Amino acid sequence: MTTDTTVKPPYKRVALIGLGLIASSMYWAIKRAGTDTEVTGYARSAETRETARRIGLCDRVCESAAEAAEGADLVVLCVPVGAMSAVAAEIAPVLKPGATVSDVGSVKADVIASVGPHIPEGVHFVPAHPMAGTEHSGPESGFAELFDNRWCLIVPNGADDEATANLSAFWQGLGALTDELEVGYHDQVCAVVSHIPHLIAYTMVGVADDLARISEQDVIKFSAAGVRDFTRIAASDPTMWRDVFLTNKDATLEILGRFTEELFALQRAIRTGDGEHLHDYFTRTRAIRRGIVEAGQDTDAPDFGRQKR
Ligand code: NAP
Repeated sequence: MTTDTTVKPPYKRVALIGLGLIASSMYWAIKRAGTDTEVTGYARSAETRETARRIGLCDRVCESAAEAAEGADLVVLCVPVGAMSAVAAEIAPVLKPGATVSDVGSVKADVIASVGPHIPEGVHFVPAHPMAGTEHSGPESGFAELFDNRWCLIVPNGADDEATANLSAFWQGLGALTDELEVGYHDQVCAVVSHIPHLIAYTMVGVADDLARISEQDVIKFSAAGVRDFTRIAASDPTMWRDVFLTNKDATLEILGRFTEELFALQRAIRTGDGEHLHDYFTRTRAIRRGIVEAGQDTDAPDFGRQKR
């Protein structure tokens, strides 16, 4: 499948609720698509709304979520997963019949359970999750290319076919590849490819930080040996990630259990000097890395293409 930025978003009015990394990237990508879609936006704090107005983020920045959502053909909830239910309750009374409500949350079962009941009759609810991000957050961190060639997973969960197809076309217009996933499968896949890797990065950087106190900053000085790549992931937004683990509890605990078993097996191989086990294991993981590069989801450049200084 290829990226198609010529796909025209099928909505005249889009409302973005929450104006952080994902929403701001969506706005710039909508504008890059060159359509006349009008975008309204709302953020919780006056400071974020002010920043949005200053940098021209959204055609109109509103003073409430309901004001932004009123009359919109598509309303996208771009707040942390734990905040989605309250926002959905606030906008529900003003939603236009036939409109679509979607979200970008990293967890889907919890969002469906907490947002779904607020969606009025005659309004479509089509959850989605763009698999793209950076460790930065806030209204100034977004950029139009964030979703280019990245997957946006649509989790229709019984939603209307036409509303689902329109949302897919919208994301394709923002540069993304789209696929439809079942909700439980989505949460399990994301626990493997995103949630647990973040937890491991947070843990490893925490351990390195403890050691740095003993070794007087040598951990930071020599970080290019590997831990630096963990530090990038571990700089991700604390609120967002707190909510991911609180709301995707079952899947993350299951994958964490498997991870711990593998770690014990490697620990035993090191203790018993089982070089064959270690070599076989590292050979298998290297092949997975090659697969990701071949799928166009990362670069094979040395040092991940970082600029030499
Ligand atoms: P972000 O940059 O931190 O922005 C979050 C936005 O939500 C801000 O506008 C913030 O308002 C608002 N907000 C925070 N708490 C709120 C609350 N309790 N009530 C109302 N609004 C609140 O976050 P993001 O990275 O764009 O993430 C947004 C969503 O996208 C999350 O659900 C996350 O799971 C999902 N997602 C993130 C990534 C990623 O890598 N970052 C990738 C895929 C999906 P203020 O600025 O006024 O505080």
